This record gives sequence, C-alpha cells and structure tokens, in this order.
Amino acid sequence: MKKYNFNAGPSILPEFTIQETVKAIQNLNGSGFSLMEISHRSKDFEAILAETITLFKELLQIPDGYSLLFLGGGASLQFCMIPYNFLNTKAAYLNTGVWASKALKEAKFFGETVEVATSKDKNFNYIPKGYVVPADADYFHITTNNTIYGTEIHTDIDSKVPLIADMSSDILSRTMDVSKYALIYGGAQKNLGPAGVTFVIIKNELLKSQKKQIPSILDYKQHIENDSMYNTPPCVPIYACLQTLKWIKNLGGVAELEKINIKKAQILYDEIDRNKIFKGTAVKEDRSLMNVCFVMSEPFAALEDEFMEFTKKKGVVGIKGHRSVGGFRASIYNAMPIEGVQVLVDAMKEFEKLKV
Ligand SMILES: *Cc1c(COP(=O)(O)O)cnc(C)c1O
Repeated sequence: MKKYNFNAGPSILPEFTIQETVKAIQNLNGSGFSLMEISHRSKDFEAILAETITLFKELLQIPDGYSLLFLGGGASLQFCMIPYNFLNTKAAYLNTGVWASKALKEAKFFGETVEVATSKDKNFNYIPKGYVVPADADYFHITTNNTIYGTEIHTDIDSKVPLIADMSSDILSRTMDVSKYALIYGGAQKNLGPAGVTFVIIKNELLKSQKKQIPSILDYKQHIENDSMYNTPPCVPIYACLQTLKWIKNLGGVAELEKINIKKAQILYDEIDRNKIFKGTAVKEDRSLMNVCFVMSEPFAALEDEFMEFTKKKGVVGIKGHRSVGGFRASIYNAMPIEGVQVLVDAMKEFEKLKV
C-alpha cells in the first residue's frame, strides 16, 4: 500500500528529490566522491549553488536587485537576524499565530515593536484586515502561511514601508510579485527540501538601512558579499532543494504547480464542507492551500482516534492537528500528489457512511 505523508514539517518531498539526492550522496557526478565529503569551495559544489540560485530566481521570477542566500539556523534565526539588521526606530508585526508571535518576541530584544493587529482572540483562525502600519516603521513583518492554523495571506499586499515575509510553508506554491517585498525567508523543510537550510531573498536596497556594527555571521551584508559562503553552507540540503526546483521546472513551473495546489485544496475543503462529520477551523476566505485544518463536528467529537486509525489503514500518515488547534491538519504541500488528497477524501466519505 502506498503511504502519503501529510506531516507539517519536515514533510513530503518529491520522489525525484529523494532519489537524485541519494545518488549524489553515493557518488556525485561520477566523481567517486560523496556530496557529503566534497569541499564547498570545489568546482562541483560552486556549480550546484550557482544553479540553485539561478533556477530559484527563474521559477519565482525574482527581479534584478535582489540577492538569494542559503543559510543555516532555520526560519527561527531570521526572527532574530531581521531586527538585528534592520530595526533602527521601530518595527511593525502582524500577529497571525505562533510563528509570527515568535518573530515579534525576538524583535523586542532589538528595539520598539508595534503589533499592528492580531487574530489571537479567535485562536488565529483568520487573517486580520483593516489594520494600519505606522508610516515610520523600519519594516512590516508578516507570516504569509500560518502552518499551525491553516490560514494564508493569498495576495502580495501593498506596503509603504519595506515588507518582510516569513514564507516557510508556502514558498513556490503560487506565482507571486517578489518586487513588493524587501525580504522573504523560510526554512526549506516544508516546500523545498530537508531541514537544515534557510532561503533568504533580499532586496539589495534594504541593506542601506543597516546602520549597526553587528557580528559577521548575523550580518546579511557579509553573507551577500561572500555569495552565501561566509561559512560552510549546508551542502546536502542545498543539493536537495536544487532537485525540487528541477522537479518544479519539469512540471511546468510555479504557475502549473499553483493550479494543482488550488485543485488539491478545493477537493479537500469541498469534502470538509459537505461531510456531516467534519468542519473546517479557519474562516473560509483565509483558508490555506497548504495546511488544511479541520475538526469533528460536535456529535462526532469522540471519534477522532478512530478516524485517525481508519485513515492510517488507507495509507494516510501525519494528519494529527497541532495541539493548540486539535483535530486534524492535512499538510498538502507542493510535493503532495492529487492522488494522496483523493485517498484522504475517500476515507472521509467512507467513514461518514459508517457513522451517520
Ligand atoms: C516551520 C515554520 C517556522 C520554523 O522554522 P525553523 O526552520 O524550524 O526555524 C517558522 N515559520 C513558519 C511559518 C513555519 O511554518
């Protein structure tokens, strides 16, 4: 039986990514050496990094004037690096969940912060709207996809101050206008590759607002000047990301992937709305295309464990919801095929027949 990995992160990767990375770990380009043991300064690795950057820029249509970095430390290190580099007067944050709150918490170490809005009152089940960002803020920080609650900002918002976005869990899931952002970052382990590498897309102009003397390893300028090789980059995760990018290109690019993502989410949300046993937790207009959160409706609340066991027998793995929301969360990232979603939906239908 084929198993489908619905885990939230680390999460499903294309079979292609896994196979190609395994080959390179055993023997890179027929060199007789493993990807794990070659120098990051070798011609082989320099070519890998250069191709990763070129392909990422091509697929996401990153305009000129932006740098692309692959760093360590996860998205969580960016929570600290961003204010360390760019918070001079005050920084504005939109608080849409645990990750956004963590980003805000780190910023407070470096200066004044403004929480422009929060959806905490409803356990983050919606994206606040109609807030005002102070015109004198150094930047405005948003989390485009809230992995735990299944809410997502679906459009590239206009911001008068530099816009900074954590896109850990929806990068490359839709076409976007990168030019509206000053900085985009995320851990690779949801939509791109294994854990251990963080992508940072940064508008070079933003660097002009960096006025402080700060430690080199936390300084974006140092990383850019050294072409992402200020220190040893995570070579194996970067190689795996490159394979995922190739997989996306073969599929027809991000626009094609977006169509599939919309279709996948629609199949699942339609079933959640139709099925008497389940109900969605996020407000409809803000529903995420990547993390689909749902619970059992009142009369069936005691059947959670039974449903989990039932789906497991069909090959569905990892749909337990985050403890702060409960119920279920099906993460249907880029690499999840439509068949996987269909297996889950069929199980939901079958379970309803048994219980209603
Ligand atoms: C998973 C996740 C993070 C944390 O990433 P790390 O790489 O573990 O630091 C941050 N933000 C969002 C939106 C996430 O989904």
